[in-house]
Amino acid sequence: MSSTLDFDVTLTERPTPAEERARILADPGWGQHFTDHMVTIRYSADKGWHDARLQPYGPISLDPASQVLHYAQELFEGLKAYRQADGSIVTFRPFMNAARMNRSAQRMAMPEIPERLFVDALELLVRTDKDWVPGTEGYSLYLRPYMFATTKLLGVNQPAQEYLFVVIASPSGNYYARGIKPVSVWLSQDYTRAAPGGTGAAKTGGNYAASFAGQAEAVAHGCDQVVWLDAVEHRWVEEVGSMNLMFVYGSGADTRLLTPALTGTLLPGITRDSMLKLAPDLGIPVEEGKISIEEWQAGCASGAITEVFGCGTAAIISPVGHVKGADREWGIGDGGLGPVSMRLREELIGIQYGTRPDPYGWVHPI
Ligand code: PMP
Repeated sequence: MSSTLDFDVTLTERPTPAEERARILADPGWGQHFTDHMVTIRYSADKGWHDARLQPYGPISLDPASQVLHYAQELFEGLKAYRQADGSIVTFRPFMNAARMNRSAQRMAMPEIPERLFVDALELLVRTDKDWVPGTEGYSLYLRPYMFATTKLLGVNQPAQEYLFVVIASPSGNYYARGIKPVSVWLSQDYTRAAPGGTGAAKTGGNYAASFAGQAEAVAHGCDQVVWLDAVEHRWVEEVGSMNLMFVYGSGADTRLLTPALTGTLLPGITRDSMLKLAPDLGIPVEEGKISIEEWQAGCASGAITEVFGCGTAAIISPVGHVKGADREWGIGDGGLGPVSMRLREELIGIQYGTRPDPYGWVHPI
């Protein structure tokens, strides 16, 4: 399919030397290294989307009065490119990220970007920097599309009229450097991530800025991640860190999953959506509903809840082993890696890396 805009292409004159790139790809860590190029596309109210470029990765110059620096009109997405066994490269459900970015844009009074242009931008960057897509199992090239207000204006009566859309790419290793192991989580009752009518369902930077204090509190209590509760009663479970939560009930043929419903205060995760489709096809029914911290604790005590895991693009599936709050603390299952979490993880990774068939049409060849 042809692009909705022609990209002006300028390749870097100083590409990262192959040996250095190989050294980075051997141990990329997470979000620390970036490829040689980036994509930028400008928007203005009068011209629409224009000035699409692929250019060397480098600093962006901004007017000090740019609206994003004052009022945080910003949004972003996150997805990965995966190298297949035959060397080819795919992304995973990129049109869903495009659609989510546009829903975020509506909430933040920002312009929507044509989905095809969004995906073209990703593809152009991945194709140009294809040597940066790691070949190691479990590694990938993380893609970060984002958009922010560049209008030079301190007035707050109207949204900006100019925006910059950017895509950068970062080789990523395993999210948990020490391998997958159950995490401990802190029930945040002092801090709230999202309130009804707020921006919780939008992937906007401010939600993450507001989450750092809660995450720091979790760490101060010896936990790895923070569990976000509803803003009104502080007892309904919403998300964990930057992942959606899944509760596994029962075992064997009686296994079922429960995940908090999308109430407008949760981010509609693409991994969550994939679980909702994958699990039933593996014979595990899924319910979107509500679960309180009391029900979570009681379910673990009675053995009704056998596993709990967070799911998201970065960590894929992250089992939760222990829960701690100001006035309570409990363990989940035997605290190890649960068979349901691991099965779903294997299935999803298999589809992403092409070692399992993809009956859903989720993988998108570059
Ligand atoms: N919740 C939050 C708050 C997130 O930031 C993310 C990561 N995008 C998710 C859930 C999981 O979403 P996805 O599966 O699309 O990565």
